[in-house]
Parts: sequence; structure tokens; C-alpha cells
Amino acid sequence: MSLEERARRERALQQGAARASACRACAIGAQRRNNVYGEGDPCADLMLVGEGPGETEDRLGRPFVGRAGELLEKMLGAIGLAREDVYIANTVKCRPTSQGERGLKNRAPDPAEMANCRPFLDEQIEIIRPRVLLALGAPAAKSFLGPSYAITKQRGRWERGPLEIPLLVTFHPAYVLRQTGGELTAVKRLVWDDLKAVRSRIDELRAELPSASARQVDLFEGPSVVE
Ligand code: SF4
Repeated sequence: MSLEERARRERALQQGAARASACRACAIGAQRRNNVYGEGDPCADLMLVGEGPGETEDRLGRPFVGRAGELLEKMLGAIGLAREDVYIANTVKCRPTSQGERGLKNRAPDPAEMANCRPFLDEQIEIIRPRVLLALGAPAAKSFLGPSYAITKQRGRWERGPLEIPLLVTFHPAYVLRQTGGELTAVKRLVWDDLKAVRSRIDELRAELPSASARQVDLFEGPSVVE
């Protein structure tokens, strides 16, 4: 990838971020603190798409920070990738909220919000053209594969994403963090299978990358991720 091409992509993403920041197509556009457009390597082989910013992401203006972000970084590390090696975005760029007893609380983006925001996501995919897309969680999966997509039954198989890019779906790190006991063990195993598949697919598509040598690690080691 030439320096010129990298610079072109960076400029295109900056322009997209500026347009998203000015966008008020949804009510949540007026409620959020920061527009969370996305971040990472504009020449990444792997692009991750989550559902939407939460409270911490909204406050910091960055995707996947906090506990879910820590786990995501462990997941990436398990297949030999750093956060800086990938591009991370969400289906919506503004934090979806609803009124709770103690103020605003996070919620999943609704279909209208995801439809409104889809041009920004499509533009990111078009600019980056990753070799592999990884959808994190059911809302992201449904945004690509339709509302009837059932993550528990259908995840783990390769799908065709936008621009025919290979797309895999796995569980959202925040969902993984909510599991306990045997369910946690089972979900960890499934996520690990998905990560290995992603690593292998990237290796196949980019022969110059080191061959898959990811070792299974405990994604949950360390007290800061699961208390
Ligand atoms: S979620 Fe997307 S479409 Fe909706 S206001 Fe925010 S940037 Fe605009």
C-alpha cells in the first residue's frame, strides 16, 4: 500500500467523520455528546463492526473502550492483531439511549437509526475495502444479513458482506461479559472458533502475512475484564 493511497484513505475517512459529526438525521444525533465515527488503520485487512456507542464511547468519542473494549483487544491479541492493526466502527455513530430511572441508559439501535446511518458505514467499508469483515453481535449481523438473522443458530459460517467481502459474525464482547458459568465457557469456545476462522481467512487472502499460529489464550485472564 503506497503512502499516497494511505493518505487518500485517511483524508476520505476524515471527511466522512466530519459529515457524520454534523449529521442530525436521527433524534439521537441531537442527544449524543460525541459522534463516534470509527478509528483504526485505513488500510486494515480486518474491519470490525459493532452495534453502537455506549456511555463511555459517547463520552470519549471512540468505539469499543471500557470493559468491552478491553476484551475486544484481548480477542484481537489472541489472533496476533493489535487494535491499531484493524479498523473499528459501529452500525450507528451516535449513542442510542432510552430514559431510565437514573437518566439515559444504553439501548440497541433501532432499524430506522441503522438505515439512516448505513451510508456512513458503507462509505467506510468502501474506503477501507478490508479483506474480512467481522460483525460483533446480533444488531450488526442483522444490519448486514437481514432482520431474520439468528446469531445463535447462524453464526460461525462465512457470509457475503458488502462489496462481496467475506463476513463472519461472532458475539459482541459486551454479551460475552454478561455470561457466567457454563454459558460463559460455551460462548468463549464459540468466539475462539470464530477468531481462528478470521485469522485463517486473512492468512489465506494475504499470503505474505505470517501463517496462522494463534495460540488459544484465556480471553478472560486478568481481573480487569471479568470480576
Ligand atoms: S446515528 Fe448516524 S444517521 Fe443518526 S444522527 Fe447519528 S450520524 Fe446521523
